[in-house]
Amino acid sequence: MKYVGAHVSAAGGVDQAVTRAHEINATAFALFTKNQRQWKAAELKPEIIERFKQNCQKYGFGKQQILPHDSYLINLGHPEAEALEKSRLAFIDEIQRCEQLGIGLLNFHPGSHLHKIDIDACLARIAESINIALDKTEGVTAVIENTAGQGTNLGFKFEHLAAIIDKVEDKQRVGVCIDTCHAFAAGYDLRTVENCELTFQQFSDIVGFEYLKAMHLNDAKSEYASRVDRHHSLGMGNIGHTPFRYIMQDARFDHIPLILETINPDIWPEEIAWLKAQQA
Ligand SMILES: [Zn+2]
Ligand SMILES: [Zn+2]
Repeated sequence: MKYVGAHVSAAGGVDQAVTRAHEINATAFALFTKNQRQWKAAELKPEIIERFKQNCQKYGFGKQQILPHDSYLINLGHPEAEALEKSRLAFIDEIQRCEQLGIGLLNFHPGSHLHKIDIDACLARIAESINIALDKTEGVTAVIENTAGQGTNLGFKFEHLAAIIDKVEDKQRVGVCIDTCHAFAAGYDLRTVENCELTFQQFSDIVGFEYLKAMHLNDAKSEYASRVDRHHSLGMGNIGHTPFRYIMQDARFDHIPLILETINPDIWPEEIAWLKAQQA
């Protein structure tokens, strides 16, 4: 079973995101449970939580079909104590919002060293942040996203993801989300079936498919190995259609949210229909 959808808007309340996902024939969706560009957010109102759960029930979105994304402000590997603490508190709040909504996953970017600490120290700090958050919460898996490696963002190598997981105490509650645009921009080629075989073999060897909890399906405006993060609609960028067909036909990607973060929401219904049609 493949779960396919997009990162839909939660404008007007998180319950509205569920309806929007249903309207584009999605069987999975992503959302922000708070404004992703602000530190503070009002608590989720009980009636909104109730409506969110009702909508999920009504439209058939189970726990493994919903992949919230945390705020872009959070840096779990921040080199400075005060800013790190602020990020850790905000991250715990994000997980608690998932708990309240009955969501089992939270997707986030690992963090950035800002040229102030080395890569290994930053990765260790990220793992420590995850340990602290998992200790204070329950039932939600921390899903680390690979990055394009822009600026000082870590997570652009599968080894970074593996190093973080290695230091997380509760291995049952940590996983990864692979973003195809980010992987391509970071130097993992996906343009041919052979490239896909090789890239996902590397993933299997270094991280392991048991940790794959989600995928972001994006084509790339950015060039191969450019370390630049620019998404494009499926088949319109530098990657092309091949990996998306490959993923839809490979059972290693079953039962996880496959989420579009492509740039034109108007064609999400067509993109979702195309993906579903690729299943062998
Ligand atoms: Zn992301
Ligand atoms: Zn992504």
